[in-house]
Amino acid sequence: MKPEIPLSFEFFPPKTVDGIANLRETRSQLAQYKPEFFSVTFGAGGSTTDRTRETVFEIQDEGYQAAPHISCISSSKEEIRELLLAYQAKGIKRLVALRGDVPSGEVSVGDFKHANELVNFIRQETGDWFHLEVAAYPEFHPEALSAAKDMANFKRKVEAGADSAITQYFYNADAYFSFVDNCLADAITIPIVPGIMPIYNYTQLARFSGVCGAEIPRWLRLRLEAYADDMPSLRALGVDVVSELCERLLTCGVPSLHFYTLNQAGTISKIVGNLNIK
Ligand code: FAD
Repeated sequence: MKPEIPLSFEFFPPKTVDGIANLRETRSQLAQYKPEFFSVTFGAGGSTTDRTRETVFEIQDEGYQAAPHISCISSSKEEIRELLLAYQAKGIKRLVALRGDVPSGEVSVGDFKHANELVNFIRQETGDWFHLEVAAYPEFHPEALSAAKDMANFKRKVEAGADSAITQYFYNADAYFSFVDNCLADAITIPIVPGIMPIYNYTQLARFSGVCGAEIPRWLRLRLEAYADDMPSLRALGVDVVSELCERLLTCGVPSLHFYTLNQAGTISKIVGNLNIK
């Protein structure tokens, strides 16, 4: 019998009327997998606060569990408090608590320097109301001073009250397994859910991977580069590679899979269709 594995899907808040309609369609297609939740990202410095909130409320009104991301950099405690109250009033029970990328230039970092401070603040303000997810980095955060320090900083978020973590995407499953082993060795036992990035477009993926510190292994990079002008072949290769990655993770007993959708359902439906799950 196929195992039941919870899935979750991440969206960004759309800007345009067409984008909103597209996301509704994407959501209705992905709903067939009965996801545990749909999460919605939060633009750095609060740039998408209203759109994130509107998207989250729409998802919640459709009867699904919505999980807003909150990134705290450049925000005041008052702004975060107001957001938490709005989410509580709407019956939201899950948040993804993040620092966000530090803005360049002379912009104030606000009342929070790191995500552990946000987690701590949310617990102080709202107790156990929210299930709190935090970010984890199997290949380490780009600003990490060392692997050990990054791990110690991850532990701060867990000790501040995180219930589970979602990882940055990776294409090397061993990085994830090594990270989880290190967590267990350090008595970190919360579920660490792999974040899965389907391959939609090589140029975009290479640029984003460079910024966020996710490695595209050489064998994969060279094969993707060879398909630079052949989108159907690139996407087919991407579906095979990401399906195999997911199968390997599932075989090793991961608690769940979280997909970065970029508001598209087609590629993910092919990947999920390839997996031995219901
Ligand atoms: P932190 O946990 O604060 O870590 C950031 C860096 O600081 C790390 O190098 C860490 O080692 C170090 N550090 C942490 N705590 C301390 C401390 N107390 N003292 C000293 N150093 C410390 N970004 C968005 O803007 N919006 C989103 O919606 C969003 N969603 C995301 C979802 C997921 C699943 C992931 C993995 C990332 C997401 N990001 C998002 C990106 C994220 O905001 C960036 O990676 C950001 O640079 C770090 O956020 P964090 O919460 O991991 O920060």
